[in-house]
Amino acid sequence: MEAKKIYINTFGCQQNEADSETLMGIAEAEGYVATEQIEEADLILFNTCAVREHAELKALSTTGQLKHLKEKNKKLKIGLCGCMVQQEHRKEDIKNKYPYVDFVFGTNKVSEFASILKAVEGAKKRLFFVDSYEENPGTICEGLPVKRRYPFRAYVSVMYGCNNFCTYCVVPYVRGRERSRKPEAILKEVAALVEKGCKEITLLGQNVNSYGKDLEDPIPFAKLLDDICKIPGDFVLKFMTSHPKDATHELFETIAKNEKCERHFHLPLQAGSGRILKEMNRRYTAEEYLALCDDLKKTVPGIAVTTDIIVGFPGETDEDFEETLHALEHCRFDGVFSFVYSPRVGTPAAALPNRIPEEVTKERMARLLNLQQKVQVENNQKLVGKTLRALCEGESKSDPAFASARSDSGKLIHFKKPEGVDLTGKFVYLRITEARAIQLFGEVVS
Ligand code: SAH
Ligand code: SF4
Repeated sequence: MEAKKIYINTFGCQQNEADSETLMGIAEAEGYVATEQIEEADLILFNTCAVREHAELKALSTTGQLKHLKEKNKKLKIGLCGCMVQQEHRKEDIKNKYPYVDFVFGTNKVSEFASILKAVEGAKKRLFFVDSYEENPGTICEGLPVKRRYPFRAYVSVMYGCNNFCTYCVVPYVRGRERSRKPEAILKEVAALVEKGCKEITLLGQNVNSYGKDLEDPIPFAKLLDDICKIPGDFVLKFMTSHPKDATHELFETIAKNEKCERHFHLPLQAGSGRILKEMNRRYTAEEYLALCDDLKKTVPGIAVTTDIIVGFPGETDEDFEETLHALEHCRFDGVFSFVYSPRVGTPAAALPNRIPEEVTKERMARLLNLQQKVQVENNQKLVGKTLRALCEGESKSDPAFASARSDSGKLIHFKKPEGVDLTGKFVYLRITEARAIQLFGEVVS
């Protein structure tokens, strides 16, 4: 009998990407083969995101497009998993409005995917495996099979969940409380990856700086980084995301002294106004953040710093927004991921008055992007003439004569492909010849 084909589509963040790699690993161990062609799949799984409404609407409209596939192939099984369906109201939406979805499971059920698949194969009715984190806190399961997308880059989850309850954010509700993996398990996984030739390791957690605090033998995140850097081999160590309230000078020093740590730090600010930060329950002031950013840049010279900003949090005044722009001018970030505030069901901010009208958020967003564009061009211009180490990702998406690479500071660099050699998955040294806001151009020096 021909093996069944599975197609997985992943929405949202790197944690979802990592979960999908595990889901694919489990499916293959159960005898399925991966396909990139949705039309030929026997089983389609969408791993969904809930962080903003836009992500949910995208997952729902893409799910809507599956109806015709089901009409063509009655045996097709369609499943949804991930953060969106972990929410009770969305699970009900799927039950009531998407009858062609055969099964749904929550974020605390990834490790049970093998038995879910078996149940789905023989099922005559629709199956919903969703329980809240109060009922099922989500245990850590080691040793699950993982099918990695790239041989040279890998995501390694170090912890799951979040305890911070920022008032706008749905993550603590759909991913549960912080659970750290044991350092031995992480070290073993990274060592095996490096041994196999993996060149880029990204440690994942919603708030990596609180890694290890919940362990029987607590260890600081900085110590975990230090230990991973001792693993012999040529690789770059990345991590995300850091919460400013837990980012310490000790962590910055650890990065400074370990060459394997990437020269990039993602430090989400969210807003430049102390009043809004308080309303967001971020637990730092704008001044504290600016001082932290200054300390990071001083301790790790040349580090690229990126951030997240939410525009139009309820009650954000023009003055509040000016303070965000002021923070951007002060920190001169190398990248800003900016999002218009999106109310999330069940979060405290969703109940706040004074929603900001769309024309105001649009205008603020345009001003932010305009300022940031200028800063990034200026930052990147300073790199012209310098040589950066970068990991080659393969052919450039826009021009097959070029290859693309990511520097240790997270910059995207395009360079003319040398003839006859494929540098994909290898470190290259590139001299920067041209700089734009989000991409650089360079030439191979060795
Ligand atoms: N744990 C990480 C990532 C959280 S989600 C962190 O704390 O940084 C990634 C980003 O999405 C957040 O940093 C925030 O900027 C944005 N975000 C989260 N909830 C949002 C919402 N309701 N509306 C708009 N942006 C949101
Ligand atoms: Fe959401 Fe805040 Fe936790 Fe990040 S730290 S996942 S923004 S609650």
